[in-house]
Amino acid sequence: MPRMTVDPNYCKGCGLCISVCPKKIIRFSENMNAKGYHYAECFNQDACIACKMCYNICPDVAITVEK
Ligand code: SF4
Ligand code: SF4
Repeated sequence: MPRMTVDPNYCKGCGLCISVCPKKIIRFSENMNAKGYHYAECFNQDACIACKMCYNICPDVAITVEK
């Protein structure tokens, strides 16, 4: 089962992953990380197709995609 997760400590809230996800299943969390950024999160793991577009575009290597 594909699964995308974000490490809140590395995310800087740039939103690039949100813009590229073909399934539109990434959003900003209501919660903030220690640096004060609303970090990205996947809100529908069942819809993830593990395309890794989010992983490839993240400048801070905050994303993990499992197949
Ligand atoms: S792996 Fe693809 S479908 Fe899954 S969250 Fe990332 S961009 Fe979206
Ligand atoms: S691309 Fe990376 S740093 Fe930018 S919002 Fe997504 S997870 Fe955070």
